[in-house]
Amino acid sequence: MLKNKTAVITGGTRGIGLAIAKKYLEQGAFVAIAGSKQETVEKALDGLKEYKNRVMGICPDLCDPAAVEKAFLSVKEKFGSLDVLVNNAGVSSATKLYDYTPEEFSKVLDLNVKAVFICSQAAARIMREQGCGVILNTSSMVSEYGQPSGCAYPATKFAVNGLTKSLARELAKDGIRVNAVAPGVTKTDMVAALPADTVARISAGIPLGRVGEPDDVAEAFVYLASDKASYVTGTVLKVDGAAMT
Ligand code: NAD
Repeated sequence: MLKNKTAVITGGTRGIGLAIAKKYLEQGAFVAIAGSKQETVEKALDGLKEYKNRVMGICPDLCDPAAVEKAFLSVKEKFGSLDVLVNNAGVSSATKLYDYTPEEFSKVLDLNVKAVFICSQAAARIMREQGCGVILNTSSMVSEYGQPSGCAYPATKFAVNGLTKSLARELAKDGIRVNAVAPGVTKTDMVAALPADTVARISAGIPLGRVGEPDDVAEAFVYLASDKASYVTGTVLKVDGAAMT
């Protein structure tokens, strides 16, 4: 479904981002995984050796426009184009309002929102020249319901939905589609580390009866990146088993 398309995936070194990278590679894409540290990028690349001619690693500071531009141009130079950007890197926190410092609030905002803006701008400049492209964002179920602590995180995911819908309208004339995927509770390292009875309790509250797998989420990213979604833009696709909290 993605033969010969080139994708950059931020936060591509583990969890949902790594699952997206694997699916994209299986579907014939060229992939650049962007991580925050060279060591974690190398580790992820080690696990993707079978695709070594179609995968590379980058680790720009996602909040530094010049570093992001340079890294994205290096991807275009190596693989010939930049067709898909997946803004997936994100941080969460469960801090209560009374304990939040402005610095901690800004840290969540910087990666989850400002970096999405900076990476989207750099990618869109390249995509506009090419005449087409796809920008995909990882939102969250909390972008609909909020959450009872760690208010910065849901605030950023509401913002991600806002960026998605706005950029879809702004960039359509340049041939660029913009969509988001909103996962529910997904079994990445953090969820996998929870005690089994906690996971069972969470699962019991989800109509489909289980937490999501990274692959469940990655499949939605494959569809939205592909030409099968060529008339889909400005949407936030929920992949959450109909969870509501
Ligand atoms: P994760 O912690 O396993 O992955 C987060 C990724 O972001 C990692 O690859 C990490 O290297 C990267 N990252 C963190 N800080 C960074 C920084 N400063 N600069 C660059 N990259 C940085 O978590 P995940 O669950 O795979 O999360 C991926 C996305 O999915 C996030 O946007 C998260 O908000 C969203 N999400 C996750 C769930 C879930 O239940 N796991 C649910 C809804 C949404």
